[in-house]
Amino acid sequence: MWDIGIIGGGASAMAAAIAAASQCEGLSICILEKKDSLGKKLTATGNGKCNLTNAACPNVRETLEFFSSLGIITRTDEQGRIYPYSQQAADVVYGMVRQLKALGVQAKCGCGAQQVDKDANGFAVTCSGGEKLSAGRLLIAAGGKAAPQFGTSGDGYSFARRLGHKVTRLSPSLTALDVQEDFRRLKGIRVRAAAGLWKDDQLVSQEEGEVQFTADGVSGICIFNLSRFVKLEEHESFLEGIGRYRICLDVLPHMNLPQTEDFLWERRRISRLKAKDLLLSVVPAALAEKLMSTIQTDGDMKAADLSHEQIASLAGILKQWNLHLSGVKGWKQAQCTSGGVDLSQVNEMTMESRLVSGLYFAGEVLDYDGPCGGFNLQNAWETGIKAGKAMAASLQSEKTKEE
Ligand SMILES: Cc1cc2nc3c(=O)[nH]c(=O)nc-3n(C[C@H](O)[C@H](O)[C@H](O)COP(=O)(O)OP(=O)(O)OC[C@H]3O[C@@H](n4cnc5c(N)ncnc54)[C@H](O)[C@@H]3O)c2cc1C
Repeated sequence: MWDIGIIGGGASAMAAAIAAASQCEGLSICILEKKDSLGKKLTATGNGKCNLTNAACPNVRETLEFFSSLGIITRTDEQGRIYPYSQQAADVVYGMVRQLKALGVQAKCGCGAQQVDKDANGFAVTCSGGEKLSAGRLLIAAGGKAAPQFGTSGDGYSFARRLGHKVTRLSPSLTALDVQEDFRRLKGIRVRAAAGLWKDDQLVSQEEGEVQFTADGVSGICIFNLSRFVKLEEHESFLEGIGRYRICLDVLPHMNLPQTEDFLWERRRISRLKAKDLLLSVVPAALAEKLMSTIQTDGDMKAADLSHEQIASLAGILKQWNLHLSGVKGWKQAQCTSGGVDLSQVNEMTMESRLVSGLYFAGEVLDYDGPCGGFNLQNAWETGIKAGKAMAASLQSEKTKEE
């Protein structure tokens, strides 16, 4: 019988185990990790550099103190993103695993939890291979459904449901978007743009940054951030729901519409330009061709012959290019899960379930998802540390009562 059992050996689980073992010496803590080592996903975060938090997070100081206590120092870039100084995600994993060993936390890797039950002593977990684990307190830190190649295939939600919890609608977040328009010839092109996500006639969210075109749609950090807001209603079919969304791109965000028209008129005077050459050095050539064909204008005609209406249409599409969504890239490509264990059923001070005493949740399994920039790992550290400290405190007070 363990004092604390933890399902998952990722970011939030390791933070929780370190926090619990540091707060109360002598606790027996066991981490069950499905993969053959701890922190596999963590090693891949931030393109291998691990963007571990962001200066804009309210509790960033506590996170930095936590890492400093592990011997991990950080650096902050001009956008507030915080990385280990070495920019090596593997250093974060190494630092955490070293501390877990030093604190006597047991990790059983290659051991996937398959079933979780509440019993008179606490919790009984049945693992792959038939092994059973009993624990007085149980933390579900099994992550979400995003990037299942790192072990996260949504098991945490099944355990939460089995123990009576509501899980809100799950969808891939921080991922590329597919559009109905044919983008095969734009694959690989990048432009700086402002992008707005619209649902019907409502602007849902806006971002500015580099947009990358893929064969099926658009990608890049600003698109990832918009993908968080593509949410289907409970009653809607996928096609119905997705059809209500569009991305509106502004590929000349530093000019307004009249300025863009003036700019095009001015360029129209340059001798012997073709229509598509009005966009020469403004956007990549393949994109210029696509924009010309979208406004049904022959890019090879003389720029000087363009009509008022054609110039107005070109300015219009540069400022407001509507791309109609046909899909959201799936779980394998997503960095995060939108939806999860309903936060109203969890005490956000301790991360303990309000329905099942002794049961805790941390990390992405919860109904929280943040934008790119370190916010999701911050959530993992923050909820993990809270749960670890709360589990240790409740065990301490139980022992004091017994004495
Ligand atoms: C490619 C990529 C890059 C990312 N980069 C960043 C970034 O730079 N900054 C940022 O803030 N966020 C980033 N994220 C998101 C961030 O990694 C996650 O939000 C965060 O790791 C979630 O922490 P967690 O502890 O909840 O789950 P995870 O870290 O996903 O860990 C969950 C663990 O549980 C294990 N598990 C699952 N089911 C079971 C089971 N049944 N039994 C035992 N073990 C189980 C899994 O194998 C996994 O190891 C990135 C995500 C991806 C995919």
